[in-house]
Amino acid sequence: MSTETIKIFDTTLRDGEQSPGASMNTEEKIQIAIQLEKLGVDIIEAGFAAASPGDFDAISKIAQRIENSTVCSLARAIDSDIKSAGESIAKAKNRRIHTFIATSSIHMEHKLKMTPDEVIKRAVRAVTYAREFVDDVEFSCEDAGRSDIGFMKDISDAVIEAGATTINLPDTVGFRLPYEIGEMVRIMSEYTKDRAIISVHNHNDLGLGVANSLEAVVNGARQVECTINGLGERAGNASLEEIVMALKVRGDIFKDLRTNINTKEIYPSSRLISNITGIEPQPNKAIVGKNAFAHESGIHQDGMLKNRETYEIMTPETIGLVKDDTLVLGKHSGRAAFRDKLAKLGFTLEDNALNKSFERFKIMADKKKEIFDDDLRALVTNEMTKAEQIYELISLQLMDFSEGTPSSVVKIRKDNQEIIDAGVGEGTIDAIFKTIERISGIESHLMDYKVKSVSKGKDALASVTVKVSFNEKEPVIIGHGLHIDTMLASARAYIGALNSYLSMEGKFKTKSD
Ligand SMILES: [Zn+2]
Repeated sequence: MSTETIKIFDTTLRDGEQSPGASMNTEEKIQIAIQLEKLGVDIIEAGFAAASPGDFDAISKIAQRIENSTVCSLARAIDSDIKSAGESIAKAKNRRIHTFIATSSIHMEHKLKMTPDEVIKRAVRAVTYAREFVDDVEFSCEDAGRSDIGFMKDISDAVIEAGATTINLPDTVGFRLPYEIGEMVRIMSEYTKDRAIISVHNHNDLGLGVANSLEAVVNGARQVECTINGLGERAGNASLEEIVMALKVRGDIFKDLRTNINTKEIYPSSRLISNITGIEPQPNKAIVGKNAFAHESGIHQDGMLKNRETYEIMTPETIGLVKDDTLVLGKHSGRAAFRDKLAKLGFTLEDNALNKSFERFKIMADKKKEIFDDDLRALVTNEMTKAEQIYELISLQLMDFSEGTPSSVVKIRKDNQEIIDAGVGEGTIDAIFKTIERISGIESHLMDYKVKSVSKGKDALASVTVKVSFNEKEPVIIGHGLHIDTMLASARAYIGALNSYLSMEGKFKTKSD
């Protein structure tokens, strides 16, 4: 039997972005797309073009940057959605429209208020219209996990006839068990045979997203939709890294199947996404969790020293995790060494970005003795994903007495002008944020504040992630700040969120949509 390829359809930028609080700026989305292409995903679902002008903008920028992967936009089965999707990806080398409508009776009756016949007509219209923009159309039976198989056969016949080439069967609510998904996929793939590729999209509400996806592959699915770190609505989606590594490590079972993923890019992809979203995978998360390759028990350590295979089913190197506890760079390292090290970590920077990152590296190296790989990763990601610097922090002065009123003096640059102001707050961070709010004149609410250390040691870099609401009708904005000093990192994070907000202002969808 010849080898078949399982297509990896990544939806981190679409379904993953629906993780609570994970709204990203355009630069961040572009950097993620570039990394996904390096990882080797076949299809990048870059967003939902009709959702807002900001989404449209990000998708069309991604479409222009990506060379090898197919760029896909989601669209409801509505003409205006399909038009936006088609236009957003018009410049992509390889492009796909993914349209969907619910096929379960509970959704058709209560949500759509349409009869099954009307649903088929709408689906056919959507696919026919999508084919005016692209040759590659995917159709999803939303809530397939709870849909009647006979009806899914009927609607598949109709949309394939209209030009759909992939039929996706999402377990939208994460309800099904592996054998049930296997049965559904087996029936549908035998039915559609060579007419269309069967795809699955499994949510993780019962923790079965990956198991369901693998069972689907065994039963004939040839595309799997998934996300990095398993991000996604509610409990998230099936995790890309777990599916890919299961297929690889258990090559004895999945003999004739392969993916186009370069597994060495898994760890860099996971780091990038968690640095950007501020959502860290749980420490015991399979493949990419902090402890996934840590052996604590003495018996295990002893076995590992004698032969790694005693307790290791895969090596950390396979996923691109190179344990680097040695000092990597110091303050005397030159630009060439810096560029070299970044290349080893998988970053290729244009001159301007390289210069800016190098400047920041020098400042950091002055204050911090040892600089580790994770420090560099965080620094470069932070530099590359910044929104336009409308406001820029120049200096911060604090007075924080254990008894008394915390106050701050902030100096900021805007349009080549320096603005200085002072403010007080209930705590030091409150004082900083209130002062910046006074300077910008833009009112805000802090929804979440998180600080973590990037690497180890007392002089570790502080990485601060804030979630700020500038307008209650619009999505919450994420901001990142990185500095050895936690207060400076906090100020930068807040200003980062403010800049992201201003760079996307007027391009958001409102929450009532
Ligand atoms: Zn989903």
